[in-house]
Amino acid sequence: MSTVAAPFHLMNNYARWPISLVKGQGNQVWDDQGNQYLDFTSGIAVTSLGHVPPKVTAKLHEQLDTLWHCSNLVHVPQQGILAEKLSRLSGLDQAFFCNSGAEANEGLIKLARRYAQKVKGTERFEIITFEQSFHGRTLATLTATGQDKVKDGFAPLPQGFVTVPYNDLEAVKSAVTDKTCAIMLELIQGEGGVHPAGDAFVKGLRELCDAHGLLLLVDEIQTGIGRTGTWFAFQQYGVKPDAISLAKGLGSGFPIGAVVATKEVAEAFAPGTHGTTFGGNPLAATAGIATLDTMEQEAILDKVAKVHELLIQELTQLKAAHPDKVVTVRGKGLLLGVELSITAAAAVNYAREKKGVILLMAGPNVVRLLPSFITTEAEVKQAIAALDEGLSQA
Ligand SMILES: *Cc1c(COP(=O)(O)O)cnc(C)c1O
Repeated sequence: MSTVAAPFHLMNNYARWPISLVKGQGNQVWDDQGNQYLDFTSGIAVTSLGHVPPKVTAKLHEQLDTLWHCSNLVHVPQQGILAEKLSRLSGLDQAFFCNSGAEANEGLIKLARRYAQKVKGTERFEIITFEQSFHGRTLATLTATGQDKVKDGFAPLPQGFVTVPYNDLEAVKSAVTDKTCAIMLELIQGEGGVHPAGDAFVKGLRELCDAHGLLLLVDEIQTGIGRTGTWFAFQQYGVKPDAISLAKGLGSGFPIGAVVATKEVAEAFAPGTHGTTFGGNPLAATAGIATLDTMEQEAILDKVAKVHELLIQELTQLKAAHPDKVVTVRGKGLLLGVELSITAAAAVNYAREKKGVILLMAGPNVVRLLPSFITTEAEVKQAIAALDEGLSQA
């Protein structure tokens, strides 16, 4: 396996693996030494249709020769098409496009505050968020994040966020004050260890929001666009949020984020109140449209369900083979976490270095599996065999 020294002129903010990837196709990627890997991370829940998906690639090629960028001072027709699709799939009404997950959550936070203050005419600004959550790395979104490590050294942080234990409805109730404007959560905490929200908890949050006039904001950046087996994770809970944020899987790897909200809430963003230079440019919006079209045309959600079943079968056997090391398997669709009684790093590194299978972690003792939606049975078996061997070595 190749070992690549960290380039001196890059900031050292990532603890990178010692490989340099230069090519991808489907679920396979290649490093600069010609070594081939199975990518069981989808570039962290991004390349859900595999690397360089042919239909999306063809649409982007066409758009590359037509128009790249034109600013949001004009209408970008692709944005309207993508927004209509997202509305039809989510039951929400209107979209704002940006470039990343953190930027989508910034938009979500700003939208909730402005709705409370300018549409409702209140002085509310506080947002309740959850321990172990992850909402991004900008100042507001790292403040919303319920993990101290992302805040270290960045004080002073913005005001207006209260963090309470996840899946604890009573704690949320106690945290609601006359300053609260919204509750913001992931329905599966991805970075925080693959922890799903309980059904009663989420229904309780919706009722609490309705009773107190609060907005329910769902961060679907990792869970959205089919990752959990439905278009959006909230669709498995029988609740409708007031607004959601999207990013990772929306553009198949082309950077794009979105806030999607009900018409009533979306009105808070009147002309001039929020914006971005690049957000939803013709290339990005084309990537979004082609991604959703491909997923619909190829009945991708059925594939997610099939790959999920295969994985659960394999993981059940893995747990039986390592009863002392595998504690539990959690998650939905193709966002699964394997909690270990030992640190996950050794097994994950072994799988990559010795077996050519790229796996992720979610915290120190959870292996996170985020395969693409086009993963084959053979690839599922290959990945779990690599993890199996990694666990035996660990
Ligand atoms: C990845 C992620 C973010 C941040 O997205 P970026 O594009 O890295 O800014 C926010 N929330 C959740 C749930 C995520 O998984």
